[in-house]
Amino acid sequence: MATVADGRTELSDPPQHEAAKGGPLPEHYSRWVAAALGGDLPVEHRASCASCSMSNRVENDSRELFDAAVKCCTFVPDLANFIVGSIIRDDDAEFAEGRRTVEMRLDYNCATTPLGLLTPKPVSHMYRDIVRPHKLFGRSRDFVCPHYIAEGGRCGIWKYRESVCSTWYCKFTKGSRGRDFWLRGLQPFLQAIDSVVAVHCVQVVGLDQSAILEIERLGSDPYDASLGAQLGQMTESTSRRICGNFYERQREL
Ligand code: SF4
Ligand code: SF4
Repeated sequence: MATVADGRTELSDPPQHEAAKGGPLPEHYSRWVAAALGGDLPVEHRASCASCSMSNRVENDSRELFDAAVKCCTFVPDLANFIVGSIIRDDDAEFAEGRRTVEMRLDYNCATTPLGLLTPKPVSHMYRDIVRPHKLFGRSRDFVCPHYIAEGGRCGIWKYRESVCSTWYCKFTKGSRGRDFWLRGLQPFLQAIDSVVAVHCVQVVGLDQSAILEIERLGSDPYDASLGAQLGQMTESTSRRICGNFYERQREL
């Protein structure tokens, strides 16, 4: 995956998974992408997630495999506010476990901001200093995503997965062309939309302008890791500043 200068992408080595990889994007992304691009998206047959192709050795295969118990889900995704809202409003009984994983992050109140759930600073640092250099991505159960459901090896929030998880594949049917399309084209496009929509949402609900400015002060890009970094161990005063008039109603926000 392409690496850019912010800490968020340091994390975005990859995540992904689930049986239907190569299937459609989450519904909200599908609509936006169809409107922007039209046509069908490429289908990635080689990333066979049901029987993870990175976790199963084939004949004459000398690769260092992923751990089948976590596959490529050793990653903690940012979840933009509108995605979090969609998840906690989804009362489908079959989605209860996935919803619980998001509520757990909200309750923990670590890197929870009006713009969404960010990746906490300590996690960013672990990826940069431990996971990457020691090639633990996909190989260490210690870094498994909080939304990963061990039973069945499933993503708990599959239908609402964010831009990195929606566009990451370990293999591409059309090689570098596919890689460029998903990782250099669609992924930054969706991340940019996530950022814009997240800011729009807090403006629409009437978050104090001072809180919006404070979030911007903490990180010029709402999803810049510096923001996640500074909010990784969020103090009450920081939380009050960035939540403004919604401090007592963070769940509502
Ligand atoms: S490593 Fe590849 S095949 Fe395995 S779950 Fe991830 S995207 Fe699917
Ligand atoms: S959100 Fe889902 S697809 Fe993304 S890393 Fe977590 S479990 Fe995997």
